[in-house]
Amino acid sequence: MQLDKPADICLSIGCQIQKNAPMSEHTSFRIGGPADLLVTVPDAAKMGQVKSIFDKEEIPVLILGNGTNMLVSDKGIEGVVIKADAQRIQPELRDGLVFCQGGVPLKKLCRFARDNGMSGLEFAYGIPGTVGGAVYMNAGAFNGQMSDVLFWAEAYFDDSGIVRVEQDKLNLGYRHSVFMEKRGVVTGAAFLLKPDIPEKIDLRMEEFMRRRREKQPLEYPSAGSFFKRPKGFFAGALIESSGLKGKTVGGAQVSEKHAGFIINTGGATCNDVQRLADALIKCVMRDHQVMLQPEVCFIGRE
Ligand SMILES: Cc1cc2nc3c(=O)[nH]c(=O)nc-3n(C[C@H](O)[C@H](O)[C@H](O)COP(=O)(O)OP(=O)(O)OC[C@H]3O[C@@H](n4cnc5c(N)ncnc54)[C@H](O)[C@@H]3O)c2cc1C
Repeated sequence: MQLDKPADICLSIGCQIQKNAPMSEHTSFRIGGPADLLVTVPDAAKMGQVKSIFDKEEIPVLILGNGTNMLVSDKGIEGVVIKADAQRIQPELRDGLVFCQGGVPLKKLCRFARDNGMSGLEFAYGIPGTVGGAVYMNAGAFNGQMSDVLFWAEAYFDDSGIVRVEQDKLNLGYRHSVFMEKRGVVTGAAFLLKPDIPEKIDLRMEEFMRRRREKQPLEYPSAGSFFKRPKGFFAGALIESSGLKGKTVGGAQVSEKHAGFIINTGGATCNDVQRLADALIKCVMRDHQVMLQPEVCFIGRE
């Protein structure tokens, strides 16, 4: 794979380049071998342009948000990982909507909405991903989800470049969006929120955060709830009633605090997590006749 030429083009348009970038440093699980190349773009709108540079060379591309819903192979990732550096980028008010670039942390968006007296994103405050990752996943918590407030999204598609996708074309379902179907790169999103008093919004945000701290093993690396919620059940409750709380494979463990979380207790490999997840799927199927499906995206070399 010839990475030097496209890497040089990326450098010339202001991107940062890292060869053999350890993905354990870029995922909340703290697991994963090296990506052949990590390209950090200074602006989410450039993600599509950078993707097309590698597409032309037929180099596999992965879009990375904050790496909080990913399990990366111990053998790493073939090709290029593209990430937006949005440290200095602020959300903004546009025509009564709150607009935000894809690479911005969700937390920053929630705080901006609160400070401007806009309610509706409180549920998302403790979700540790980016706006792009949350739109892509239709992330949700505490009976709220992105589809409740998302008005439109901007995304790069291979065949059309950057386009605005209106609400009715977003195909938002449970942890699903049109961007999964059409390989769209979310570069920005606009949210329709309701006016409210910042102090009241803040109280709700802090209450959701308190409930997370109380119920979730935030002191350990993880990718959040490992499995999707099966219809009519909770994955954590099924795992717990199969007596699997605390079950360990290598450094991976079913959290004692919340059985829906697989945590990295130190030095866990992707292989440990996969073996543990397979065991959970089998036992839950045997005991409850329910098929658990991972919510976490497995990525990288087999
Ligand atoms: C402690 C903890 C708690 C969590 N709680 C919740 C919760 O309450 N609810 C919830 O829904 N999730 C939760 N998660 C999971 C995760 O934070 C969400 O799924 C989040 O939306 C992922 O965003 P990200 O930017 O980290 O995406 P990543 O993990 O980087 O990527 C996830 C997927 O999205 C794709 N992607 C990322 N950015 C883009 C983009 N701009 N365009 C196109 N594709 C993109 C990636 O290619 C990948 O397929 C939690 C995770 C942790 C660690």
